[in-house]
Amino acid sequence: MPTYQYVCTACDHGFEAVQSFSDDALTQCPECEGPVKKVYAAVGVVFKGSGFYKTDSAPKPTSSE
Ligand SMILES: [Zn+2]
Repeated sequence: MPTYQYVCTACDHGFEAVQSFSDDALTQCPECEGPVKKVYAAVGVVFKGSGFYKTDSAPKPTSSE
């Protein structure tokens, strides 16, 4: 069961909700009943400084000519 992260746009209260794919997205903050938005956090995916990708193995745009 996936865990979704939400943040309230009214009071900045962040929370997680475990929902199935068939459940509707939450729309209401449990703290202030304000509107919430879903947060797509890329946890564990860090490209910067990891050395995971080698830039010289990827095709480069011809901008240096
Ligand atoms: Zn709130």
